[in-house]
Amino acid sequence: MKITELRSRRFVFNHEDRPFHPTWRPFPERHQDVTVVEIKTDEGITGIGAGGVLTRLGSVAPLFVGKDPLAIEEHWHTLRSIAHLMGRPWPIEIALWDIAAKKACVPLAKLLGGFTDKLLAYCSTGEIHGLEQRVEDVLRIRSEGFRAVKLRFHNPDWRIDLKTLDAVRKAVGDSMTIMVDANWGWYLPGDRTLGHWDVKTARAVVRELERYDVFWIEEPLYAYDYDGLAELREHTTLRVAGGELNAGLHEFQVYFDKGSLDVYQPDCTFAGGVTVAKKVAGMAQAAGLLFSPHTWTNGLGLAANLQVGAAVPNCPFIEFPYDPPNWVPEYRDFMLAEQLRIDGDGYLHVPDRPGLGVELDEARLAAIERA
Ligand SMILES: [Mg+2]
Repeated sequence: MKITELRSRRFVFNHEDRPFHPTWRPFPERHQDVTVVEIKTDEGITGIGAGGVLTRLGSVAPLFVGKDPLAIEEHWHTLRSIAHLMGRPWPIEIALWDIAAKKACVPLAKLLGGFTDKLLAYCSTGEIHGLEQRVEDVLRIRSEGFRAVKLRFHNPDWRIDLKTLDAVRKAVGDSMTIMVDANWGWYLPGDRTLGHWDVKTARAVVRELERYDVFWIEEPLYAYDYDGLAELREHTTLRVAGGELNAGLHEFQVYFDKGSLDVYQPDCTFAGGVTVAKKVAGMAQAAGLLFSPHTWTNGLGLAANLQVGAAVPNCPFIEFPYDPPNWVPEYRDFMLAEQLRIDGDGYLHVPDRPGLGVELDEARLAAIERA
């Protein structure tokens, strides 16, 4: 099999009527700007991928056309070098895996190991809502089938977030698993920047969170504060989660060497493709630790990370970005012919189709393609 074409197309989906105010951005999102990569082969198999970058990846096509799409480790090294020059090219690598699994006529999760065909989804909220609103939200998502929810702690005073957690825990009792994401792994100027935590603050927060049976505390400190995370981890019974924007095996190796994390969250669209995410899952498995990939890019990114999570034995939850009314599958999955939905028991299923198991909604995309 040979690659005959590699192209990228940019799509902009507007949701001006309902801007989304995530904790990780100091300005609202009013549209989703997504680059979709497609790789065609001489056997008629096409692979697709998308991530969180806008790079015109089609310009690197000559490095791949004419080559065997299944030589993924070789392509990975080319992509690693491209990453130095023009950002994160990992949607190309994801498209290659899509081709490999389509060639094998199995879902990608099966090609990678096939541990399970469904994962328990946690509802990953993205905004800070008022206490009463958040309680109402969580009760509603529980009624939709979710058995786990992640709350954001990002107010300048974390005690405000703690009150919300207290109210949510009282409302749901022990019927739901609760995670907390502080989102202090990285930040932009203009963000609630002065609120970001040092080790002492993080220790004070986790001491409180232990009383609420929180499953993990995510990104309580700057992502490269390896020692601070390790110190925090030593002083709490809570699992410490992170790594969503880290890239390459070497950065993750430092986390392992320092003992910084309990839950590893590489996102294959950021970390170095399916190849790196799967290897990090194996490193975590060897250390007796958990893997639960970050998925918050778009529906195609979620679809790819779902496949990696379902392939391995140490992924207890998959992140399901969902925070109505401002973040809903209609926005997240705008490029997909079929939106990703949980079942009534809170599971997200690996699509029973070869590859990533998702298709582009070409009719919709034709209307929103940009130069
Ligand atoms: Mg996060």
